[in-house]
Formats: sequence, C-alpha cells, structure tokens
Amino acid sequence: MKGSNVTWKDCVVKKLLDQHLLEEIPKSPQRVYVSMVILREFHSTAVLTTEGQHLDVEMVRAGRTKNQLLSRVVLQKRKQVAPERRTGRAFNRQMGWGETCDYMKKMCGECPDCLLYGFAATSGDGAQRSRVLTDSGFSIRQYEAIQRSITLNAIQDTTQGGIAGSAFAEREHIRPQVFFPTIETAIDVTSSELVYILRNILSTTRYGAESNRQGYVKNHIIGLLFTNTEIMSNLELTQRVFDYLIQEKGEKIHEGPLEQEEVRQAMLHALNEVVADSYLPIQLYVGEELESVFSGLRQLWKSEEGNREWLKNLAEDHQAYLKKRSK
Ligand SMILES: [Zn+2]
Repeated sequence: MKGSNVTWKDCVVKKLLDQHLLEEIPKSPQRVYVSMVILREFHSTAVLTTEGQHLDVEMVRAGRTKNQLLSRVVLQKRKQVAPERRTGRAFNRQMGWGETCDYMKKMCGECPDCLLYGFAATSGDGAQRSRVLTDSGFSIRQYEAIQRSITLNAIQDTTQGGIAGSAFAEREHIRPQVFFPTIETAIDVTSSELVYILRNILSTTRYGAESNRQGYVKNHIIGLLFTNTEIMSNLELTQRVFDYLIQEKGEKIHEGPLEQEEVRQAMLHALNEVVADSYLPIQLYVGEELESVFSGLRQLWKSEEGNREWLKNLAEDHQAYLKKRSK
C-alpha cells in the first residue's frame, strides 16, 4: 500500500501521547492511566450468552437520579477484550511476531499481546498482569425492549425428513442498533503500545457467539482521558447516559432504537460531569481535538514507513522492558 508518507516520530498522535504517557514501561506500577471511552454499536443481531439460550441479564438501577429497577443486557468483559486480542494476535502473526505464542497451550510472554493484555505464568517464566482494564458493559435500554428470540431450524432433522417438534430451538438475541457505552483503561503504557490497543479496538468488528454470521459492531471512541485513576465504571456511565436521555427525550427512549448521535451527546455530558467531580486532574480529549488524533492514526496506519517505525518503536519498548524485568 502506498498511502501517505507520515513518519511515526513526527506524527501528531505520538506528540500528543508522549505528553501524557510514560517513555518506557515501568517495572513497578506508576499508575499512569489512559481511559478510552467507547460506544459499541451493534449493527446486527448478536448472541450475548455465557451459555445456553438466554442473554446475560442483570437487574440494576436505571439511572442515578431516575433510580427505578431495570433489567439490562450485559456485555461481559471478556466478550469485549477477547475479540480485540484476536485482532491484535492476527496482526502480530502478519508482522512475524509471537508465532510461537499459543493462547491455549503456552503463551510466549514476549509479544505485544502477552505484554499488554497479560499472560499466566507457566514454569517460573514470570507472568504479566493485564495492563488493559475492562469491566462488563450494560445496555442503555431494558432487556425486554432489545431482545428477540430467534427459532433455529435444525437442518439436520429436515434432511432426515423429520419434522418433529424437537427440531426447533429458541435462542435469545439482541436486536440491531443496541448500544453499550464502555470504557477500557490502559495502565503504564507507552505511546506505541496505546496505538496498538487503539488499532485493535478500531479494527475489531465482530463480538458475541456465532460471530461469523452476526454480531457486527461499530466501535466509536468518544473520548480519551489521561489521569491517575479510573474515571468511572461502565455501569455508572450507562446510568448517567440513561438519566441524560430521559431528561432530553422523556419516556420516548423506550419506544425504539436510540440514535447514535444522541447517545454520543449523552456520553459527552457524562464525561464532562465526571471530570468536574474528579478529585484528581484529568486531561480530556473529545470532539475536534480527538478527531485530529484519529486523522493522525489513519495517516499513520496507511503509511508503510509510518507503520514500520511505529512497530519498531513498539518492539524496542518491549525489548527494553523484558531486559529490565530479567534483572
Ligand atoms: Zn505472546
């Protein structure tokens, strides 16, 4: 691919991230946090079940001011991160990294996936705690309004000529255009590492079970926040979004799918409230400032030279860390 001739060193993204992040991965935690606020928009039906045919549902308070009980569909934390890790691991293989890294058997402990998202110790080779914090996400609207049972026709039986009642099984799906406001927080990462995480989030499109046929998701990053603590949980974010939407639209929010723009506005409102309430300083990037980060990333990832330099930097960060850790 030809693309632009952006360099990593002079790229706007690196310059901005370098102001807030660490130059190298510390051996002991420094708790430099960057929170990525993500609106996950499902475009197709999806199966969000842990097992069996029912969606994962939790009864929680609707909002913080509107505090009646509401059953919400849960997007489990590992269902968010696992597909993003797979995107990253496929990319690593393209780069010739971590080819010996086996998720099921033995993780290598050296590739970006192991060093960022963590791996368990096998035989005294040390372990890495995940430096990407996540939490389960909650739907904004109630379970009853966003779910649909789909009857699966058991083809096997039909080919055998059988039409027995047992040939049909019901499974709960979420409907298209369901939103999950979520936050992923990276801890003590370098600029090149954060770009790797962002690439995974922005280029992963499939979540949930049977994801070759459904579960298409568009991830919108609404904000980046640099601080020394987690800013809020996903539940609090969803509750704040709910309160704002009720205030703006009233009970109409129960009638049909929400609009992406109104959810985005509600999330921005929630972020501003949280920044105002925070005890610690927070650098917040939203709107145009954030858009300049994304246009910088687009240029970088489309540039052969830029990509090469960024990945070289990432490899250097990891080599330096592994060396420091082995001492
Ligand atoms: Zn690995």
